[in-house]
Amino acid sequence: WFITFEGPEGAGKSTQVKLLAPWLEAQGREVVLTREPGNGGWLGVEVRRLVLLSEPMSPEAEYLLYSADRAEHVRRVIAPALAAGKVVLCDRYLDSSLAYQGYGRGLDLGWLRAVAVGVTQGLKPHRTFLLDLPPEVGLARFAGRDRLEREPLEFHQRVRAGYLELAKAEPQRFVVLDATQSPEAIQAELRSHLSTLLR
Ligand code: C5P
Repeated sequence: WFITFEGPEGAGKSTQVKLLAPWLEAQGREVVLTREPGNGGWLGVEVRRLVLLSEPMSPEAEYLLYSADRAEHVRRVIAPALAAGKVVLCDRYLDSSLAYQGYGRGLDLGWLRAVAVGVTQGLKPHRTFLLDLPPEVGLARFAGRDRLEREPLEFHQRVRAGYLELAKAEPQRFVVLDATQSPEAIQAELRSHLSTLLR
């Protein structure tokens, strides 16, 4: 199973994913916990450094850097784990690029998707949990952590609206959760959805 987690900064994705792993393992499942950007080996580390900390760059270049990391990530981590029957919990994946570089930065979604076919080897998540949150709330939790948090509020609003549009277009894949809830409540909802999915 390939499960991804999406949403804006400060939605609590990484906390939620970390809590799910031991719960799934206690049910006898082998779990791989991973994330983007940054888990595509040495290249992922470099990409994360470049896109998050460096000088401004063109959105096209930004997307291709994320894609380079994603290509490595799929090949080295995600595809092998799925082939071995493991549950892959991934914090951000292609939908992040569609939301941030597509809806946020205005790149053509058709181009992003065309590039992504090769990059992902056509690998799509079975389920995507969108932890939805007004950007004001998320940003307040993470003031000034990286380049993206200095973007204007409108950028983050476009990203949020983009995510919601992606979710609406694929209701069978997406589950939208209200991330203003307490972490415990979000975790309970995730577990309930996953219990049904993995049954
Ligand atoms: O999830 P995490 O906080 O580690 O993400 C790091 C940063 O990368 C965030 O600011 C996120 O908005 C940004 N990002 C992006 N485009 C992607 C993936 C992540 O702008 N495709």
